[in-house]
Amino acid sequence: MIAEVIIDSSVKTLNKKFDYEIPEGMNVQVGTRVFVPFANKKELSDGIVVGIKENSEFKVKKIAGLQPEQIDKNYIELAKWMANRYFCNISECLRLMLPPGKTAKNVEKRVKEKTVNVVGLAKDIDEIYNDIDNKIKSEKQKNVLEFIIDNGVATVQDIELFTDASRAVVNTLIKNGYLEVNEKQVDRNPFLHKQTVKTVDLKLNEEQGIAYNSMEYSGKYLLYGVTGSGKTEIYLQMIEKMLNQGKSSIMLVPEISLTPQTVDRFISRFGEEQIAILHSKLSVGERFDQWNKIKEGKARIVIGARSAIFAPVVNLGLIIIDEEHDESYQSETAPRYDVRELAEYITDKNDLTLIMGSATPDMRTFYRAKQGELELLTLTKRANNSELPSVEIVDLRQELANGNKSMISEKLRNEIEKNLITKKQTILYLNRRGFSTFVMCRDCGYTIKCKRCDITLTYHKNEHKLKCHYCGYEQGEVKECPECHGKNIKYFGAGTQKLEDEVKELFPSATTIRMDIDTVTKKNSHEEILNKFKNENIDILIGTQMVVKGHHFPNVTLVGVIAADSNLNMGDFRANEKTFQTLTQVAGRAGREKENGRVIIQTYNPDNYAIEYSKYQDYDVFYNTEIGIRKQLKYPPFCDIIVIDMSSKNERELMNVAKKLHGYLKNRVINEKFGLLLYSPVPSPIDKIKDRHRMRMLIKCLYDDRIHDLLQDSLSEFYKMKTISARVAIELNPNNML
Ligand code: ADP
Ligand code: ZN
Repeated sequence: MIAEVIIDSSVKTLNKKFDYEIPEGMNVQVGTRVFVPFANKKELSDGIVVGIKENSEFKVKKIAGLQPEQIDKNYIELAKWMANRYFCNISECLRLMLPPGKTAKNVEKRVKEKTVNVVGLAKDIDEIYNDIDNKIKSEKQKNVLEFIIDNGVATVQDIELFTDASRAVVNTLIKNGYLEVNEKQVDRNPFLHKQTVKTVDLKLNEEQGIAYNSMEYSGKYLLYGVTGSGKTEIYLQMIEKMLNQGKSSIMLVPEISLTPQTVDRFISRFGEEQIAILHSKLSVGERFDQWNKIKEGKARIVIGARSAIFAPVVNLGLIIIDEEHDESYQSETAPRYDVRELAEYITDKNDLTLIMGSATPDMRTFYRAKQGELELLTLTKRANNSELPSVEIVDLRQELANGNKSMISEKLRNEIEKNLITKKQTILYLNRRGFSTFVMCRDCGYTIKCKRCDITLTYHKNEHKLKCHYCGYEQGEVKECPECHGKNIKYFGAGTQKLEDEVKELFPSATTIRMDIDTVTKKNSHEEILNKFKNENIDILIGTQMVVKGHHFPNVTLVGVIAADSNLNMGDFRANEKTFQTLTQVAGRAGREKENGRVIIQTYNPDNYAIEYSKYQDYDVFYNTEIGIRKQLKYPPFCDIIVIDMSSKNERELMNVAKKLHGYLKNRVINEKFGLLLYSPVPSPIDKIKDRHRMRMLIKCLYDDRIHDLLQDSLSEFYKMKTISARVAIELNPNNML
């Protein structure tokens, strides 16, 4: 018999099946992981069997050996579907479905420790990939680097266990500057052995009851309910119903809101025995343990970020996607999948129940629900009868005219003062970190940009550094213009650091805490900051998007949005949608208990409808306006947008690739009468990142198989070009248009 094998590789030309003979007596099925001799490599290659057949037309080699882990047949189908839909290699998709660490050979050996040193990348991934291809000779060193790239940080024991490389190999990589050692608190049980009080089902209110009963049969549902309307309670009771039927559930939450508070609600209801959690902050060993708990059928509830959809759940019955509009559900690296699409695919194939929940659904999801592709279930009231917060919009232009140059309007200042007196808490939200967002020479107008990206550097005052928020490049402060040597350097724009300074100046007696990527470090986690804010009753929490998502602080009664406009001018057709979603979400943090919440939104565009409607927190009204505009301008959901991203270190090569690809597409579109709109290649909005120049081509169309094949063909055309550093990626309706 012949096995069709996919070789584990991201090289595009290897994205096909290779035939191998199955040796007499070897038990090989679809999904079996094998070692095979490949090309003229000295070492055996990793492969996965995706098909079995009688004969091959080629002269074939034999499978050399079996690997311990298998992949379920259904996942092989899923991987094929993904590879096709998202223009990537099947093996890249299969990797997501392997147990963390891939090949654990000696699981029992692993020791349990409290704090350990973990090893992580010390250089930029691109640089490392480059050296793997060109510089590093040792296979073991390459394996270790690839392992860390795939799995994030790992202990040396984990590396030894999962890659078969010795400590000496790791040490060499550290010495050569590829890896670095950090200390990490590791608890092999990520639940932290918390004492939780058991909760019982709440009696559902009328709306909740109707929604719950509507989900009696399998199918796809959009649970659309304002913040605090009791969606989570419905999830809990649906999971319970599944447990009673012997079925498991996967609950996806945005990465950033996967906090112990979130998980606690589930543990309190179901106990930690039955629950597994999966997210990128766990070490590979921790993830491996969780994976096994799921695979053995012990954990019947999986809570996790996007990739938890691939958990090897036994007898899956229910998938929940909370905050379904969240951007983290779409992967920005290959395979660039949208987990909502995968969840629908899995649901349809296996006749499951899928619940997507949100207070501000993705326009596309809501439109599809209205078209009947999902069943729409609505919750209109907060479950604990607290009122939605009252929202006031402050016109910053007026504020400037009145001579207030501070980041905080008079109105907001008064409200903060009230809260300080009554010992209530306040959240201030600003979507920009750092101190000043750009640095300019007043004499010649020169702005300081990253050496590797076409992006202005942000000033970080505490460290006296200028940083690139795209690639991490840092340099010291500048006192003199590098261009004209003038000394008139001025810092413009304001981030969370500056806001914190201003708040301290305005309210010297207030306690404050800041949460953004710069304060959230390994030592000072996201968790700890939120706990501190809550437990020590800190007066003011200042932060970026991190403060927006899903937290529940009973004592917060005031939310201030410092600049509602920051999402508006980003050149993305979703700008209004994102603005409305963020404002509604952040407003939802205020007054979640008895006390009424107040929200102050500061803006330079008070007439913009996304900002105006957020005042009433009325998604329906927003939706009706926005959908009209989308229809008129032919934007999703009325068409699909395909972005063909092209990049290269060499600008001329990039131009050449762009021209050829565009020519190829244009010819076929005209000759074969495709009904689509092909735009000419243009520089991307950020036209250089990490020394790679970027261009892109847009296509507007109604995506179908024919267009899919056209795009596949154009990729093949690109692979034929034999370029040096060019890359092409195709994205379908990407979330991030920058
Ligand atoms: P959402 O997930 O929509 O934001 P939650 O499920 O978190 O809403 O509910 C908000 C608050 O209302 C929580 O404190 C929750 O305990 C409470 N709650 C939810 N459902 C009920 C109910 N049926 N009766 C009483 N309180 C409820
Ligand atoms: Zn940069």
